[in-house]
Amino acid sequence: MQEKINTNAWIEINLNHLTHNVRSIQTKLPSKCTFMAVVKANAYGHGDILISKHLNKIGINSFGVATLQEGIRLRENGIKGEILIFGYTQSCYAKQLQYYQLTQTVIDFDHARELFETKIPLKVHLKIDTGMHRVGFNHENIEELVRIVEFETFNIDGMYTHLSVCDSKSEKDINFTNKQIQKFYQAVEKLEKCGIKIPNLHIQSSYGALNASNLQCDYARIGIVMYGVHSSLKDHRQQTIKLRPVLSLKAKIGMIREATIGEYVGYGCAYQVEKKTKIAVIPVGYADGIPRNLSGKAHVLIRGYQAPIIGRICMDQCMVDVTHIPEVRKGDIATLIGVDGSQEITIEQLAQEGETISNEIVSRLGTRIPRVSSEVISKENIGTQISQLDLNLKK
Ligand SMILES: *Cc1c(COP(=O)(O)O)cnc(C)c1O
Repeated sequence: MQEKINTNAWIEINLNHLTHNVRSIQTKLPSKCTFMAVVKANAYGHGDILISKHLNKIGINSFGVATLQEGIRLRENGIKGEILIFGYTQSCYAKQLQYYQLTQTVIDFDHARELFETKIPLKVHLKIDTGMHRVGFNHENIEELVRIVEFETFNIDGMYTHLSVCDSKSEKDINFTNKQIQKFYQAVEKLEKCGIKIPNLHIQSSYGALNASNLQCDYARIGIVMYGVHSSLKDHRQQTIKLRPVLSLKAKIGMIREATIGEYVGYGCAYQVEKKTKIAVIPVGYADGIPRNLSGKAHVLIRGYQAPIIGRICMDQCMVDVTHIPEVRKGDIATLIGVDGSQEITIEQLAQEGETISNEIVSRLGTRIPRVSSEVISKENIGTQISQLDLNLKK
C-alpha cells in the first residue's frame, strides 16, 4: 500500500540507536537470558511495526505487548517470534490467541478456568503477584497454581512477576524489591516440591535489569530503556548504560508573524506580549502528545536556538517566540524533541517539566504524526527541504 507522508510534522526514528541500546543492554544480561522487547502502546509511541521489524532484523525474536489487538497487529505485519500478552484477554478470543500464535498471561484462577473451558490449546505464562497488587496469582496460592498445571489444554511455558519499586535506591524500597524476588522464588520452589517445573522464569523490566542485574532469569522484559530513555532524571541506576534516544519530534514552521506590545497570543489571552515579538506557529499540539500543561514551560529548537512556547498549547498547534533568532523563516525545522546543533530537548526534560515520567510522554505521542526512520528522512530530504514534499513510502 502506498502512503503519503505529511511532512509538516514527523517523528524521526533512529534505528541505529535502537540497535545500539539493545546490544548495550544485552551485554548486561546473563548469557542465557533472552531479551524480550516490550513494544506495547505502539512501541512506547515509536511506531510498533517500524520498531518490531527492525528488532526482528537484528535477531530479537521475543516481544511483549499489553493487549490481544497489539499482538494481532504485529502478526498481521509479519513479525516473527514469540509474543507475550501481559494483560487480560477474555476467553471468547481464545481462537485468536491460537490462530495468531500468541502467548497469553494467565492473571488468576478464574482467568485460567475461563480459558481452559474453551478447550482450545494455548501457550501461557503464569503471572505471580508478589506485592504490587496489579494482576497475578497471590504468591502464596500454590494450590491454585498446582490445579492449573492439570489443565491439559495449556502449554505452560513460563511464569513471571513484576517489580514495582526497583527504580529507587532508598533502603526501604530495595528491601521491598528483595522481598518481591524472594516471594517469587519461594513460589517456584514450592511448585518444584510438588514436582512442577516451569521452563521459563522472569522478573525484570528495564529497571530490574539495571538494578537487579545479578538475577539469573530466562527473560528480561525491556521497555523504556530500549528506546534510549530513562523514566526520570531522578531514578536510580546501578548499571550505567550509555543510551541513545531513538525518537525525535520535528515540525516545519507553518507561519511567521508579529505582535506588538499589549497584544495577546493564543487561547484565553493567557500570554500578553511585552515587546515587539516575532512568533512562529508550529503545527504540533496537545493532540500530538505535547502536554498542554507544558504551556509557558517548554521550548523548541530552531536553527540551533532555544525558542520558548508562548501562550497556551492548542490541540493542533503551538506558538513560539523567535524574536531572537536571525533569519528565521517559514519552513524552518522546529525540534520539539531531539537535537539541533549544540542544543537538545530530551524526553526526560519534558517529563520533568510536565511532572510525569518519560514513559507517559512517549506513549501518548499522537498517531496522526508519521513515524519515519532517519534513513528515509535523509534519503528523501524531509529534514532539509523547505518546499512541500510528498513522499511515497512502501508500507
Ligand atoms: C510495561 C511492562 C514492562 C516494561 O517495563 P519498562 O519499565 O518500560 O521496561 C515489563 N513487564 C510488564 C509486565 C509490563 O507491563
